[in-house]
Amino acid sequence: MATVTSENDLIDGVDTLSLPPKLRKLAIKRQKKKDAAVRERQERKQAEAPKKRDRIGERTSYNWAACTWLVLLHIGALAAPFYFSWAGLAAFFVMHWMTGSLGICMGFHRLLTHTGFKTYPIVKWTLAVIGGLAGEGSALDWVANHREHHAFSDKEGDPHSPHDGAWWSHAQWLTVTRPPAQHRAHLEKWVPDMLKDPGLVLISNLFLPIQFVSGAVFYGLGYLIGGHYMGMSFLVYGVVLRLVGVLHATWFVNSASHMFGYRNYETTDDSRNNWWVAIVAYGEGWHNNHHAYPRMAVHGHQWWEFDITYQAIRVLKFTGLAWDIVNYRRRGEKPA
Ligand SMILES: [Zn+2]
Ligand SMILES: [Zn+2]
Repeated sequence: MATVTSENDLIDGVDTLSLPPKLRKLAIKRQKKKDAAVRERQERKQAEAPKKRDRIGERTSYNWAACTWLVLLHIGALAAPFYFSWAGLAAFFVMHWMTGSLGICMGFHRLLTHTGFKTYPIVKWTLAVIGGLAGEGSALDWVANHREHHAFSDKEGDPHSPHDGAWWSHAQWLTVTRPPAQHRAHLEKWVPDMLKDPGLVLISNLFLPIQFVSGAVFYGLGYLIGGHYMGMSFLVYGVVLRLVGVLHATWFVNSASHMFGYRNYETTDDSRNNWWVAIVAYGEGWHNNHHAYPRMAVHGHQWWEFDITYQAIRVLKFTGLAWDIVNYRRRGEKPA
């Protein structure tokens, strides 16, 4: 790069003093512009480089298993128009609610991650199995990532902040993972309580096979009702399309609810209350409330913030299956 230090410099091998004054001025001007552009590019590169490194952190290897799983599911969902049935559609909605609201929101999130209420081990394990059927990774991994998200929300170390890109926070963050040794250390750091529970460890280890069992069960159920076509309809709507639907609903909490919506509380992160995420993710869209008071089992804090998952927790309480529900911000607000 030829740098202009004085007007007598050579520019690209040409002595500017030998040029007519007008051309000389032009050559120097052009060179200065070039230098400024190069400098700007270098500065931009420097500013971006640490950010890219940080968002990956120790997750240095591609998660080929997750990539394959997610790509196959999305391709499989394209079969939906060819296997439509009303019963299949009903299976979609029932399973979407069961795995999305009961499994992920109530089980993985409010119970296992934040202990927003207490219950019997058998209920906890059942919710962990249903949550596993959402195909979002094992209970251990899900909770470890989510606790890490709360510890570093929208700061360096957050596994899925939109600060690293909207698409990154939605799904791209799942394409990288830790090497096995770091993965184990990650679990020991974030979910030591869950590692002590052999039931949760077993359920987490069975995460992958259980997906295929559920696929076979749904095909079999449909087959019994209406032969191969209905079997495929149950498989495609009750499992494949439903998995894709629940995945994106959960992912919108990480992406959209950290970008769009209003705030009830001035938290140190960018969490937002987003009504449409609250609908598709069963109350989890009231995400600013949740970041302000993470242990609270109720995520809707204003009268219009309907939280269907909390209603299910109330049903558990009513039937004696849940107690010590954290439905207060501070001790002083605890109902007698
Ligand atoms: Zn968040
Ligand atoms: Zn949370």
